[in-house]
Amino acid sequence: AIAALALTACGRSEPTTAGGASGAAGFPQDSSIGVALPQKTSENWVLAEKLFNDGLNGAGFKADVQFANGGVSEQQNQISAMVTKGAKVIIVGAIDGAQLGTQLRQAKDAGATIIAYDRLLLNTENVDYYVAYDNFKVGELQGQALLDGMKAKKPEGPYNIELFAGSPDDANAKVFFDGAMSILQPKIDDGTLTVMSGQTSFEQAVTQGWKAENAQRRMDTLLAGTYGSATLDGVLSPNDTLARAVLTSVKAAGKQLPVITGQDSEVESVKSIMAGEQYSTINKDTRKLVEHAITMVKDLQAGKTPEVNDDKSYDNGTKVVPAFLLEPVIVTAENVKTAYTDDPVLGPLTK
Ligand code: BGC
Repeated sequence: AIAALALTACGRSEPTTAGGASGAAGFPQDSSIGVALPQKTSENWVLAEKLFNDGLNGAGFKADVQFANGGVSEQQNQISAMVTKGAKVIIVGAIDGAQLGTQLRQAKDAGATIIAYDRLLLNTENVDYYVAYDNFKVGELQGQALLDGMKAKKPEGPYNIELFAGSPDDANAKVFFDGAMSILQPKIDDGTLTVMSGQTSFEQAVTQGWKAENAQRRMDTLLAGTYGSATLDGVLSPNDTLARAVLTSVKAAGKQLPVITGQDSEVESVKSIMAGEQYSTINKDTRKLVEHAITMVKDLQAGKTPEVNDDKSYDNGTKVVPAFLLEPVIVTAENVKTAYTDDPVLGPLTK
C-alpha cells in the first residue's frame, strides 16, 4: 500500500496559494462536514475527535465525526454515508490510505472537497489537500534523538540497537522510518550502530495495527533470541504507545532500559520522560493540526483557496498533493519543562 509513496520531504517551499481544488464557489455555512478518523491507536486521535466536533460546530458547520474502530470497510461505509448526507468537505485520517479510492471518487463526484488529515491518501487523484506535521522530519528527529541519547549515556560507541516501525497500512509509518533511517543508516554503515537481530528493513520492523501487544511480543522475541548477554543500548520506536510496550518487555526481561524514542507526547510517556525512562517524544500539538484543517474548511466555505506551504513533497502515487505542513518538535528531559507551556493538560503536568 505504501510502495507508491515517493517523498522528498526536505524540500519545503514558501507559502503559496496554489491549489486548484474544487469548492471555489463556496457553500452554505450550516453544511455538513465529514471527518473520518481511523482507530484509537494513540491519544492524538481521541483528542482530534473532540476538537473537530467543538471547532466545526462552534464555527456553525454540522460536524459529522466518525471513528472506524471496526477497520477499513467500516471507514469506507462511513465515507459513503458522509457523501449521502451531502458533506461539502470530507476530512480523512485513513486507516489504510490506499483503500478508499472508490469512496473518494464518489465524494468528488458529489462535489465534496477532500482533505487528507495527518495521513496521506494514496493512489488517487481525488484528494485536494493534505494537512499534517512533517512526517519525514519526525523520523529525522527520532533518529537524531536516539543517537544523542545513547551518546549522553555512554560517550563511546559502538551501540547495539533495534528498530521498530508503525503499521504498514498507515502511509506515515514508512515515512517516519525513512526519516529515521536517513540519520541511522550511515551510522550502521560505519559500524557505530549494530542492529543485533539483523532486522533492518521496514518490513521486518513493522508493528501491525500500531498495536502495543505486537511491539511487546516482538521485543520479547528479540531479547530472548539476541540479547542473552549483550546489552541493548537503544531502540527506535515510532510512537509513545509502542515505546512504552517495548519498555514493558525490557523490564519483564530484567534488562537495563535502553534509550528509546517516541512520538505524540502522550501523558504516560511525558511522565516517563520526567522519570528518566523513555528518552524522547515528539510534540505534534493536535490542537494546531485540527485548527488548520478547520481553517481550510472555512476558506472553502467562503469560496477561497486554502493556503498551502508545500506543493512538492507529498506524491501520493497519482499526484503531488498540495500540503500544509506543521513543524514537529523533539522533547527530552532537557526541554520537557518548557515544551508544553501552552498545553492545557501537559503544561500543568510538566511545570
Ligand atoms: C500518527 C502518529 C500516531 C500513529 C498511531 C500516525 O499516523 O501520525 O502520530 O502515533 O498514527 O496512531
